[in-house]
Amino acid sequence: MPAPIRPARRSWWLEEALAHPEFAGPEAPPLGRDVAADVAILGGGFTGMWTAWFLKERDPGIDVVLLEADICGGGPSGRNGGFCDGWWGHIVDVVATYGEAAALELLMACGRSPGEIGAWCDAHGVDAWFRHAGVLAVATNPAAQGRFGGTLEVARRLGLEDEYRLLAPEEVRGRCASPVFRDGLLIPDAANVQPARLARGLRRVLIERGVRIYEGTPVLRFRASKPVEIETPGGRVRAGEAVVGLGAWATWWRPVAPYLTVRGSYIVITAPAPERLEALGWTGGEAIHDVRPSVHYARTTPDGRIALGLGGLQPGLSQRIDGRYDHHEGFARRVAADLARWFPPFADVPIEAAWGGPINVSGLTMPFFGSLGRHGNVHYGLGYTGNGVGPSHLGGKILAALATHADDGFTRLAVVSREPKRFPPEPVRSLGAALVNTAVLREDDLADAGRRADPLTRFVARLPRRLGYNLGAH
Ligand SMILES: Cc1cc2nc3c(=O)[nH]c(=O)nc-3n(C[C@H](O)[C@H](O)[C@H](O)COP(=O)(O)OP(=O)(O)OC[C@H]3O[C@@H](n4cnc5c(N)ncnc54)[C@H](O)[C@@H]3O)c2cc1C
Repeated sequence: MPAPIRPARRSWWLEEALAHPEFAGPEAPPLGRDVAADVAILGGGFTGMWTAWFLKERDPGIDVVLLEADICGGGPSGRNGGFCDGWWGHIVDVVATYGEAAALELLMACGRSPGEIGAWCDAHGVDAWFRHAGVLAVATNPAAQGRFGGTLEVARRLGLEDEYRLLAPEEVRGRCASPVFRDGLLIPDAANVQPARLARGLRRVLIERGVRIYEGTPVLRFRASKPVEIETPGGRVRAGEAVVGLGAWATWWRPVAPYLTVRGSYIVITAPAPERLEALGWTGGEAIHDVRPSVHYARTTPDGRIALGLGGLQPGLSQRIDGRYDHHEGFARRVAADLARWFPPFADVPIEAAWGGPINVSGLTMPFFGSLGRHGNVHYGLGYTGNGVGPSHLGGKILAALATHADDGFTRLAVVSREPKRFPPEPVRSLGAALVNTAVLREDDLADAGRRADPLTRFVARLPRRLGYNLGAH
């Protein structure tokens, strides 16, 4: 039996970041008394923290309290692959869902976020390993090859073709000599980050700006009254406005539960081996993913590691978020084997850690934003479907506008105030998701092996599309 892969505490990224005082501190102890605020933010991931940032940008005097059950960045925001892009890669779906004019507004608004995040890191001395090196989508099997034409055609129609570069197989392999890579599509205006450094840097800057952050403070319940009343174990918060940035955990909040489902994504990271990266020729820092629905995503680190993740994995029938989303030995082994297959020079480089996290999935792959309650004073931003590092920055702008009741370009974007697509009720939702995820993974794995899945697998894998869902790259 090979030795088990070490489960990271939350993620290797968080372990790395928290070893540095500028990302660890200062302390933000749990709420221990009743407090009042102008705006209370529920959840200390990127959505909650960028909202706090943009609220302070709109009005430095606004009094903001942020409540986080764990530590800021302890959820997916500090655990993800660190791909920091807009919606360029989703252009076909964005146009299909919202129409060309609204899609163009969304693409442009979100397209600004990666560059602005980099500039924000520079301005605030946050070394988040921001690398503006592009995101490269690659075909990894014959069926996937030659499929970027649709994206380019829509891009041309919208005058956005400069955002993309089609790469022939030899050009892809010139950037990273993986034996499984075929042709590819490069999106140059995209970046990658060390996500936990970004999250913890954001937390530090917010505290400096006067945002009162309470970590270790789970919201037990809240009422959409005026003021909103929020209960936590150590005290109550009364706030004029509330912003819900709870990610996958929002599935316990009844008003949004019909619009969300949860699945897992799992990552492994190697020991440093910069000379092996050079052997691969992968020194340009591109973040690389395949185009399977159950997506693989890989990136490098400044000290020469590879982190590779796989989405679309469901650790059980029920979608209750528990420790199986933090670590799953079977999935970690599977991802480690994929890493060796993609990058043979790394086959004997030790895997240092593995971890996972829950993805909150919306019915049409795009996040949704809006306001609820008789007073319209509870605002939410959810359903990023595995693509939230860049988009949550735009999400923060939207939610800051909603929480200040501004009527501007952000609140009029097409992702705001439209009813998202509903999922079937439980237990059909969880059972259906488990069946579909299994079929999708099987079909993708067979395709990578050059084989075609049986008709039943293909039928189940495509059922969501037939029912009008677009569950995105898993
Ligand atoms: C393994 C993995 C890889 C990913 N890779 C990428 C990638 O490469 N690029 C990309 O763009 N996206 C990626 N994503 C998705 C991305 O991480 C998310 O879309 C993004 O972080 C969402 O941020 P958020 O603030 O909305 O939610 P979260 O980061 O989930 O934050 C929600 C917070 O709410 C807190 N919370 C939960 N319950 C309570 C409660 N009752 N009271 C108070 N607080 C509570 C949680 O602890 C958590 O910190 C990945 C996700 C995972 C899991």
